Amino acid sequence: MAIGGKFFRRQVSKSVVLASMTLVMGVTGLLTPVMEANASAETQQPIVVYSSRKEHLIKPLFEAFTEKSGIEVNYITDKAGPLLVRLQGEGERTPADLFMTVDAGNLWHAASKDLLQPIESDTLTTRVPQHLRDPENRWFGLSLRARTIVYSTDRVKPTELSTYEALGGEAFAKRLCLRTSKKVYNQSLVATMIERFGADKTQGVVESWVGNLATDVFANDTSLIKAVIAGQCDVGIVNSYYFGRLQKKEAEIPAALFWPNQGTSGVHVNISGAGVTKHAKQPALAKSLLEFLVSKEAQVKFAGLNMEYPVAAGVDLDPLVASWGSFNQDKTPLQVAGERQSDAIKLMDRAGYR
Ligand code: FE
Repeated sequence: MAIGGKFFRRQVSKSVVLASMTLVMGVTGLLTPVMEANASAETQQPIVVYSSRKEHLIKPLFEAFTEKSGIEVNYITDKAGPLLVRLQGEGERTPADLFMTVDAGNLWHAASKDLLQPIESDTLTTRVPQHLRDPENRWFGLSLRARTIVYSTDRVKPTELSTYEALGGEAFAKRLCLRTSKKVYNQSLVATMIERFGADKTQGVVESWVGNLATDVFANDTSLIKAVIAGQCDVGIVNSYYFGRLQKKEAEIPAALFWPNQGTSGVHVNISGAGVTKHAKQPALAKSLLEFLVSKEAQVKFAGLNMEYPVAAGVDLDPLVASWGSFNQDKTPLQVAGERQSDAIKLMDRAGYR
């Protein structure tokens, strides 16, 4: 209780500091404290979003929504953990209508803590493929990210690559880089592997990866890609948009993306997504914002701003993203990332993956 309380206070105060730094801006650019914005009942109230997606990735979308609907959107940005703690602490008093974050593991957590409510919408269930949303309609994918293999074009031929599992083979002894197992991205990858292969085989794969590590695990995908470029290792596993960010700065980097498991399970994908909060004051408006975000016009922007993939069909890709070529994706339902997350964390720990 004491530890939980201390943790709670610390996270909330951090959220408050960050909220005041990001200034809970209305899309008009006016600084509008959330509570004050909700105080007046006479006028159309802004929708309030708690977002772990950064401001530059969401603000243009909210502005487009306001232009179209006349409904303003206020938001707070922070890390997913503190936002969840905040939502939970606020309970019925929360001003948040929508919770937006990355990784199905985080969305699953919000739903499993009963912080989201089911939304019935033909638009959402038609435009968001089944494996990219909650079976109970409490969260929906809004953009798709591929977690794939990055390799050195100086030291690896693409014909030497095949699957995630094969990165543990002899050919890659002391040549592999991995991001820390503490980040949700590789937890979700391993969770879907447990679903497919079972725990024993998955543990064997993870152990073989650990055995092939060229160096300590990395704090983030960008430093991993830089290590591949610098020659510290030859292959690794990263989200494609981090590669895109480096490529945008410098077109001719000696590294490339490879789409693994094309003859088998497909490339591991995950989402950024959102759900309407359980105690939303304006669930119908929050639903209309979600529906807007899966429209063709919003999907182009939503995916393009972070060099991700749209979830909806028939939407053009960012040209740089299109240049990486097409791939078959793993269609394992993404709630598995949440359901098997704690198994994945324990398994990675047993396998010595730090
Ligand atoms: Fe990321």
